[in-house]
Amino acid sequence: MQAIAVRRGETEPTRIDIPRPEPEDGEALVRILRVGIDGTDHEVLESGQGDYPEGAEYMVLGHEAVGVVEDPNGTDLNAGDVVVPTVRRRPPAGTNEYFERGEPDMAPSGYHVERGIVGAHGFMAEYVTSPAEYLVEIPERLAEVGCFVEPISITEKAMEHAYASRERSSGRPNRRWFSGTARSGW
Ligand SMILES: [Zn+2]
Repeated sequence: MQAIAVRRGETEPTRIDIPRPEPEDGEALVRILRVGIDGTDHEVLESGQGDYPEGAEYMVLGHEAVGVVEDPNGTDLNAGDVVVPTVRRRPPAGTNEYFERGEPDMAPSGYHVERGIVGAHGFMAEYVTSPAEYLVEIPERLAEVGCFVEPISITEKAMEHAYASRERSSGRPNRRWFSGTARSGW
C-alpha cells in the first residue's frame, strides 16, 4: 500500500510502498479516508530528526485522520463504522497512570508516543491498524470533515484547562479572558 512518510534525516515527505498492516488481537483495520495537515507536520519535517518509531528508518506522517473500519477483527466495532483515531498512545515501556486514568492527553513527554509525531507511525497511509479503544466512532455524515475532530479536541482540552485553572478563583473564564485582554482580579 501507499503511504506518505519522512525518512530518517530527511526534511521532505516521500511516498513509500509498505505492506498493508495486519491487525493484532484487539485491533481493527481502518481504511483511511482523509488526513489533515497542520503546523505540527511541518515541525516534524523541519526537525529532520523526529523521534522515529523504534527500529524504523522512516515514520509515516499524519495525525489528523478519519477512516472507515475495514476489518473489525473481533472488536466491538463494525465494518463500515466511520472512526477517528486518537493520537496519543502508550509508550513502548508500557502503560502508566495517565493512560490508566483515561487521560493520555495529560501525560508529559516520555509517558506517551504520538502517532505521526513522536515515536509511532501516523495515519497518512491507505490502511492503518489501531486498538479499538483508540478509535472514536463518529456519525457517517461527518466522514467528510472527520479529520477536524482531532484539532477540535485540542481546543476542547484548552477550554477544560482554562475552566479548571479558574475553578478556585472568583469569576469564570469568558471571551475577554481567552483573548488575553482581561486584567487579573476580575
Ligand atoms: Zn494537528
